[in-house]
Amino acid sequence: MKSLGGISRRDFLKFCGAIALTIGFSESSALEIAEAIEKAAKRPPLVWLELSLCTGDSEALIQTTNPGPAELVLDILSIDYWDTIMAPSGKQAEKSLNDAVKAGDFICVVEGAVPTGEDGYYLTIADKTGIDVLREVTEKAKAVIALGNCATYGGLPAAEPNPTEAKGVDQVIDKPVVNLPGCPCHGDWLVTTALYFLLFDKLPELDDLGRPKMIYGQTVHENCPRRPHFEAGEFVEEFGSPEEVKGYCLYKVGCKGPESYCNSPIQRWNDKVNWCLGSGTGCIGCTEPDFWDKFTPLYDRLPGVAIPGIGNVSVDTIGKVAGAATAVGIGAHLIGQAVTGRLGKGAPSEGGEE
Ligand code: SF4
Repeated sequence: MKSLGGISRRDFLKFCGAIALTIGFSESSALEIAEAIEKAAKRPPLVWLELSLCTGDSEALIQTTNPGPAELVLDILSIDYWDTIMAPSGKQAEKSLNDAVKAGDFICVVEGAVPTGEDGYYLTIADKTGIDVLREVTEKAKAVIALGNCATYGGLPAAEPNPTEAKGVDQVIDKPVVNLPGCPCHGDWLVTTALYFLLFDKLPELDDLGRPKMIYGQTVHENCPRRPHFEAGEFVEEFGSPEEVKGYCLYKVGCKGPESYCNSPIQRWNDKVNWCLGSGTGCIGCTEPDFWDKFTPLYDRLPGVAIPGIGNVSVDTIGKVAGAATAVGIGAHLIGQAVTGRLGKGAPSEGGEE
């Protein structure tokens, strides 16, 4: 197998191995996936719309390494319109968008929320409202991917008091949408989803919030390296303490990992160098709907956890309960899988002190 564009053979195979694992194959399928990508008659063409956003998702994709952004844009995907990085502007950019839409057979990636207040006039692009641009382009798209928490669930623009009446894409268009939330969304999540579409000519299986299960099928908590401390009842009570230095669980200082779904602990960021909890902060729940309203203040802890057969317990007694659960035959690992519920901010703690 030869190298692809500017990527070495070794790095391309490594990349394909990671894709294989995410989509549920063994790493040994890397060579087959690499050949399928190389042989594909056509790379997946993307039309990338920017609506009400901070451009964080674009930046996250641009920061990718192995493959880097040039290989992603030119060799693996075919990004036919992306106004953040493209050279044309004004009328020329409009023409690029119109040409790409006219050619059809593209995946539409939408970044940013859709402001719907004042008939959509909080956002205008080339004399059209964001709503109109979104509807015109997605109508012709083969598939629609909403990228980042703003495009999926409204994100920060939709947080209280939501003055522009911002909404997620699937609340505005009448078409199936694949949701890839995150603040920002990991660049590899988009690439994996687009390549899944290329390899299988269908969209991946989604959960009830429109997210691919291959990426968002488990909680952060389930794969967190700090989880043994959670189960042992060893928590950081305040930042700057010896417990923080020891790498104890961050639940009591606000970690939302038990209620947040994504593969960040495994995927990691920046060529797998680190991830949110690895850098010492708790999970803020950025892959969940309404996280700005539901999970703030970000350093306040969730009110309770639920263990099957036992019910909700205070996190202060989790270590003792974990031990008892194991003693009566409920594996301690179940505790992680059992942390459930969508307890909103201010919900009462059941079964224990707060
Ligand atoms: Fe990790 Fe947070 Fe779960 Fe603690 S609560 S184990 S820090 S995900």
